[in-house]
Amino acid sequence: MTKPLPADVLSRLKAVLGEAGWSVDPDRLAPKLAEWRGRWRGVTPLLALPRDTAQVAAVVGICAASGVAITPQGGNTGLVGGQIPDGEVLLSLERMRAVRDIDADDDVVVVEAGVTLAALHEAALTVGRRFPLSLASEGSCTVGGLISTNAGGTAVLRYGTMRDQVLGLEAVLPNGEIWNGLKRLRKDNTGYDLKQLLIGAEGTLGVVTAASLKLYPLLPSRAVAMVGLASAHDAITLLGRAKTETGGALEAFELIGRLGLAFVLKNVPDQREPLAGVHPWYVLIETASGEPGAAEAAMERLLARALEDDLIQDATVAQSEAQAKALWALRELQSAGQKPEGEIWKHDVSVPVSQVARFIDQAGAAVAALSPGVRIVAFGHVGDGNVHYDVLVEAGGDNAAHAALRDEGARRVHDIAAALHGSISAEHGLGTMKTIEALRYKQPAEVAALRAVRAALDPGRIMNPRVLF
Ligand SMILES: Cc1cc2nc3c(=O)[nH]c(=O)nc-3n(C[C@H](O)[C@H](O)[C@H](O)COP(=O)(O)OP(=O)(O)OC[C@H]3O[C@@H](n4cnc5c(N)ncnc54)[C@H](O)[C@@H]3O)c2cc1C
Repeated sequence: MTKPLPADVLSRLKAVLGEAGWSVDPDRLAPKLAEWRGRWRGVTPLLALPRDTAQVAAVVGICAASGVAITPQGGNTGLVGGQIPDGEVLLSLERMRAVRDIDADDDVVVVEAGVTLAALHEAALTVGRRFPLSLASEGSCTVGGLISTNAGGTAVLRYGTMRDQVLGLEAVLPNGEIWNGLKRLRKDNTGYDLKQLLIGAEGTLGVVTAASLKLYPLLPSRAVAMVGLASAHDAITLLGRAKTETGGALEAFELIGRLGLAFVLKNVPDQREPLAGVHPWYVLIETASGEPGAAEAAMERLLARALEDDLIQDATVAQSEAQAKALWALRELQSAGQKPEGEIWKHDVSVPVSQVARFIDQAGAAVAALSPGVRIVAFGHVGDGNVHYDVLVEAGGDNAAHAALRDEGARRVHDIAAALHGSISAEHGLGTMKTIEALRYKQPAEVAALRAVRAALDPGRIMNPRVLF
């Protein structure tokens, strides 16, 4: 049961949103209150569905004046619980899906926050351009969510994170005021940059309603390969070579452990071994170039030399789009492949690239010592130093001792990442899941400054109050 809103607040919200703009229907609310893995289930007194920025501003203004808290939601694909309300008004951007402008001369697209990543990719193609970020959740995740979590994915190595794609923002601030910062400039040195505060703020500093984003040229020459290696250390050596030997064509470099691959082959239909033999580690490499044949030639050169030097054990290069997709599926299905194997403790850490193999070695030893028999699936965007470090354990039920063991596991993994100058959240954010844990690793001076900024913008703490500091 959730606490109802004061009657006057509810009726004012309904009035500004219009009949199509709100719901309390349990069937309509259900998919927005459940996190896709079933990890969090929320409650809300009202689902607000504004159709434009003015309606968002009206909703936030009424809530701010009444001290009513809000949780913004995009595609509900977040992995740290920040989009699931616990009594707050749930503000969904799903009706704000317009592509407001697209301009190949400026290499810019201006989109509303509810546009999905897949729709953004399609919009870019209509003017012969490309939006480079790529996430397995692209059919559902939205521009507002991508910006608010500063999402990463498989193209960060070449293009940077979502932060690097944003030229301008439009947002409703926590007092209900609209800020139109939809610039499309590559250079704009005019003091503090408000958009940078909102990027990665996880809905705590306002509601992102639209963004102007960078577009890039299409790169028609492409090659995708799967490589088998003896160790994660060799993968890092190969990464260094790939960066220098492909003439800037390196697009993605993704690590996959044998156990993770084995789970995909076992648990997901229609998947095939990529190589003739079995290898302890695999790397999926993609190269791309605007020059015809250049990406393919760079890949062949890189792999031939690596084989010659015994750095890699085997490799296959996709000969068709279908084969390339099949190789990518083995990477993108890593989470789905593990799911039937039981309870999983997930960690999303980053360390300097040079420390990835050391992190995997040290974390493996620390977690095995905690609970013998654990199985570890490590994979991820290793070109960015980002390891998804999943620990599979015997299901221990919903009891305090098991929860304490899980927390201790996370503590050990995070302590090792921190000792190697890494982060406990590489790309998923903190949400409600990691906010408390993050306080262990942030410096007090930084936390105090961040709290002061938040209090200045949102003195009533109405925006996503359970998320961040
Ligand atoms: C299969 C799968 C694969 C994934 N792969 C990756 C990956 O490779 N890299 C990666 O970084 N993430 C990944 N994710 C996580 C997720 O897709 C991203 O975090 C994504 O950016 C969330 O977008 P969303 O629209 O679903 O946001 P939501 O889940 O709805 O919200 C996420 C956060 O943003 C806030 N928010 C949403 N919209 C707004 C807005 N308009 N204004 C203000 N705040 C807002 C919410 O309050 C919440 O705190 C993956 C998720 C899944 C399910």
